[in-house]
Amino acid sequence: MDILEAAPSPAALAGELRGVLDGLWQGPADDGEWLDGLARAIACWCKVRASDPGPAAGWACFKTPEPVDFGHLVDFERTRPDFPEFMEGPRNRRRRRDGFKLTDRRYSEKQVLSEVDYCVLCHSRDKDSCTKGVRDKNGQIARNPLGIKLSGCPLDEKISEMHTLHGEGDSIAALAVIAIDNPLVAGTGHRICNDCMKACIYQKYDPVNIPQIETRVLVDVLGLPWGFEIYSLLTRWNPLNRRRPVPLPYNGKNVLVVGLGPAGYTLAHYLLGEGFGVVAIDGLKIEPLEPELARDERGEARPVERFFDYYQELDERVLMGFGGVAEYGITVRWDKNFLKVIRLCLDRRLHFRSYGGVRFGGTVTIEDAWEMGFDHIAIATGAGKPTIVPMKNNLVRGIRKASDFLMALQLTGAQKKSSLTNLQVRLPAIVIGGGLTAIDTTTEVMAYYPMQVEKTLERYEALVAERGEEAVRAGYAPDELEVLDEFLEHGRAVRAERERAAAAGEEPDFASLVHSWGGATMVYRKSMLDSPAYRLNHEEIIKAFEEGIWYAEQLAPVEALRGADGALDGVVFERQEKVEGRWRGTGEMVTLPARTMFVAAGTSPNVIYEREYPGTFEMDEWDQFFRRYRVETAESGPRLVPDEDSEDRKPGVFTSYNQGGRFISYFGDNHPAYAGNVVKAMASARDGYPQIVALFEREISRLDPAGQDERELCWRELAERLDEELVPRVEEVRRLTPTIVEVFVRAPRAARRFRPGQFFRLQSFESLAPVYDGTALASEGMALTGAWVDPEKGLLSTIVLEMGGSSRQCATWRPGQPIVAMGPTGAPTEIPDGGQTVLLLGGGLGNAVQFSIGKAMRDNGNRVVYFAAYK
Ligand SMILES: Cc1cc2nc3c(=O)[nH]c(=O)nc-3n(C[C@H](O)[C@H](O)[C@H](O)COP(=O)(O)OP(=O)(O)OC[C@H]3O[C@@H](n4cnc5c(N)ncnc54)[C@H](O)[C@@H]3O)c2cc1C
Ligand code: SF4
Repeated sequence: MDILEAAPSPAALAGELRGVLDGLWQGPADDGEWLDGLARAIACWCKVRASDPGPAAGWACFKTPEPVDFGHLVDFERTRPDFPEFMEGPRNRRRRRDGFKLTDRRYSEKQVLSEVDYCVLCHSRDKDSCTKGVRDKNGQIARNPLGIKLSGCPLDEKISEMHTLHGEGDSIAALAVIAIDNPLVAGTGHRICNDCMKACIYQKYDPVNIPQIETRVLVDVLGLPWGFEIYSLLTRWNPLNRRRPVPLPYNGKNVLVVGLGPAGYTLAHYLLGEGFGVVAIDGLKIEPLEPELARDERGEARPVERFFDYYQELDERVLMGFGGVAEYGITVRWDKNFLKVIRLCLDRRLHFRSYGGVRFGGTVTIEDAWEMGFDHIAIATGAGKPTIVPMKNNLVRGIRKASDFLMALQLTGAQKKSSLTNLQVRLPAIVIGGGLTAIDTTTEVMAYYPMQVEKTLERYEALVAERGEEAVRAGYAPDELEVLDEFLEHGRAVRAERERAAAAGEEPDFASLVHSWGGATMVYRKSMLDSPAYRLNHEEIIKAFEEGIWYAEQLAPVEALRGADGALDGVVFERQEKVEGRWRGTGEMVTLPARTMFVAAGTSPNVIYEREYPGTFEMDEWDQFFRRYRVETAESGPRLVPDEDSEDRKPGVFTSYNQGGRFISYFGDNHPAYAGNVVKAMASARDGYPQIVALFEREISRLDPAGQDERELCWRELAERLDEELVPRVEEVRRLTPTIVEVFVRAPRAARRFRPGQFFRLQSFESLAPVYDGTALASEGMALTGAWVDPEKGLLSTIVLEMGGSSRQCATWRPGQPIVAMGPTGAPTEIPDGGQTVLLLGGGLGNAVQFSIGKAMRDNGNRVVYFAAYK
C-alpha cells in the first residue's frame, strides 16, 4: 500500500505501475514476491482508474454508492450569463444519438449482480421497504424531502426475495417469485418504474437499482431456449402462487375491457385467470401478429423456441398499437419488444379476443355491449384531454400538442427511415411542460429533426433525378419552398456530419448541429426542482441532458408571435418568482425564438363517454373523474356504495352506472387513486379485478360442470360474431375521377352506428403493406366523412381525394383486405324531424359529406335544396 499512499497523482501512479510491471517482466525471485508485485500492480491500476476511469468507466467494481442530495439530484450547468434561467447537462456526459434505436441497452449481468450484491436483502427482517413502503414513527407511509410518498412497489412485488434468488443464479425461480404479484412484469422494470427504488432502505445513499435487476431477470429467462414459453407458463401456472396457481375454467361470463394500455391488458390477464371471457377493444389500430406467432384456426399457437428471433430493433419495429401510452407515448428509452411478450401471453388464451380500431362510444356503446352479450364493462381508456395553456395566439401554425407529436412520431412510424409519414418540425423548438411527456418530447424532437431533414434531402434528390429540379420545385408554394430549402441545407449538413463521423470511426454528433439551428428547449413555469419530472423521475432529466436537451425554468408562456409567413416565430414568456411559497409573474418578459412549440402541460382523465352521452355517469366534485363507488353484496344482490380513500381496503373501482344489476368499472389513468403511471395502472387492475369477480361470485358458484361444453360453444359463437362485426375489410375501391376514389368497406357494426355528418379514420396495416425499395406503403390514419352506409349489408363508403402519400395508397387496396375503419366519430349533423326546407352547400370534396346528410334530411320528410360547387 506504500505506493498508493505515496503516489501523488494518477500520472505518478501510472509511472509506479509501469515500474512494477517492468519488474514483473524480468521474472519473480520467488512466488511470494511475484504475487506481492501483482497485487501492487492491480492496486495501482485500480487507484488510477477510480479517479480517471477512462475505458473502465461504468465498470461494476468502480461503482461506489453516492450520497443522495435531494436538492441536487441532477447535474447541470448554467452556460448563458444573459439568460439565467437556461441550463444544460454537463458537456462531458453527452451521449450521441442517431435515430430511434433503443437508447438504453440496460445493465450488463455484472452490473446487475453488483446491484444485487449491494442490496441487503431486507425481507428476512421484514424491513423490505422497497415492497412494503417506508413508515414513519407513527406507522404512516413516510414522504421523502421532495414530498413524494414512499409507498414502495404498487404491485407489492417480492423484490428482496427475487434478488436473493437471482443472486444465487436462479433466474427462473426469481421470475416465478416476481410473477406471483406482477405476472405481466414485461410491462414494468427499467426506464418505466421507480417507486420501489424511491422506497429502498438506502435513503441517504443511492438506492439499489431494482428495475434493472427485475428486467435482467426477465431477459435472462426470455433468452433461454423456450424461455418465452417458461415465462408465459408462469403467467398462467405458477406453483408459488397459492391463491391462483392455475386458471379457472371458462365461467360463461364475458367482460368488455375498453382500452389496451397497461390497465386494460393487466385486467384482461387477471379476469382470464378467474375464468371470464375477455374481449378488449381499443380505438387505435392494432397490427396483426406475425403469422407464425398468431393462433391458427384451431386456436393453437406454435411454441416459441427463441424469443429473440422475433426481437426487432425499435427503429425498424412495426408499432403494434398494443399497450396504450406504453406503446405510443413512452419513447425508445424503453424496450417495446416487451409489449409483444405481453400481447402473446394474452392472445394465446382461448377466451381472449382483442380488436383495434373500435371506439367505445362510436363503434360500440354501452347498450350495444349488453346487447352483444357482455356481462360487465371495464373502462381503461387512460388520460385524454390535454391541458390548454392560456396564452395569446394559441392556435398559430407551428403549435401543437406534445402528445400528438409523440403519437404521430411513433404510431404512424414517422420515426422510421422508411416511413412516408408527413410530420414537420422546424427549429428552434420549444416544449412547454415539466413532466415526462415534456422530457420525452424534447429528446424526440432532437432525434427526429436530423432524420427529418436527411429524409427530405434523400427524397428530394430522388425526385429531382426522376423529374428534374424545376418540375419538382414547381409543385411548392413560395413559403413551402422556403421551408424546403432550409431542410435541404440542414440535410446536407447532417449528411456531411455522418460522413465525417464515419471517417473518424465515431458516432455522428447531431446534437451540436441541432443546437446550431436553435435547439430544443423544455420550458417550465416553476423551478426545475419543483417539476414533476424532477420529483418523480429525475433519472429521466439526467438522461435527457445526456442527449443534449436545453432546459429553461421559471418562465410562463404569455404570447405566441407570428412571423411574416403567419407561422410561429417566437414565444413571449413572463419570468416567474416564488413568493411565500407560491409562484407568480414578475412582469418581466423574455422572448425566445421558436418555429415549433409543443405543449405538454398535463392531461385529464378520458371521460369522453360522459360528454358524448351526458347523464351516463356521475362525475366527481371537480367534474374531472367518474365518481368512485364500491360494490357491497346485500341480500337483494350487489349494490353501489360511495367510496373514498381508506387504509383498510383497496380503492373501489366502480362508476355510478347500475342498470338492472349491470355495472361498469374503471381503471388506470381513468381512476383517481391510480392515475399517473404504468405500474399504478397495472396495480389498479390487480386491486380491482377481485371486485368484478365478487359481482358474479354467487352465480359462478352455482355453475353446473355438465354445462361446460355449452358455455364453450356460447363463447365460440360470441367470438365469431365479433370477428364478423368488428374486423373491417375492403369491399371495393372504385375510381370516380383521375384523382378521386370511393372506398367501400365492410364494417357492419360501424355502418350501423353511423349518423350523417360523422366520419371514420381509415388506415391500412403496416405489417400487411407492400414494401417498395425499403419503404412500407402503409397509410397514415385519414379522417374521412362517411358518404353513404348500408346498415343491412354492413357496408360504408368514403370518398378519397388523392392528394398525399396516404390517400394515394387507397387505390391499391384489394377486396377482402383487412383495414382499420375507426369510428364513427364526431358529432352527427342535426336532422330536423320533417317539414323543413334545408339548404345544403358543398364545395369540391366537401360534397361527400352532403350525400348522407341530404339523404337523411329527405328520409325524415324535409325538402332539400342543394348547391354543389365543383371546379
Ligand atoms: C410521453 C409519456 C411518457 C410517459 N412515461 C412514463 C414512464 O416512464 N413511466 C410510467 O410509469 N408512466 C409513464 N407515463 C404515463 C403512463 O404511460 C400512463 O400512466 C399509463 O399508460 C396509463 O395506463 P392506462 O392503461 O390507464 O391508459 P393508456 O396507456 O392511456 O391506455 C388507454 C388506451 O385506451 C384507448 N382508448 C381511449 N379511448 C378509447 C375509446 N373511446 N375506445 C376505445 N379505446 C380507447 C387508447 O387508445 C389507449 O390505448 C408516460 C406518459 C406519457 C404521455
Ligand atoms: S432493494 Fe433496498 S429495501 Fe429492498 S431489499 Fe434491497 S436494500 Fe432492502
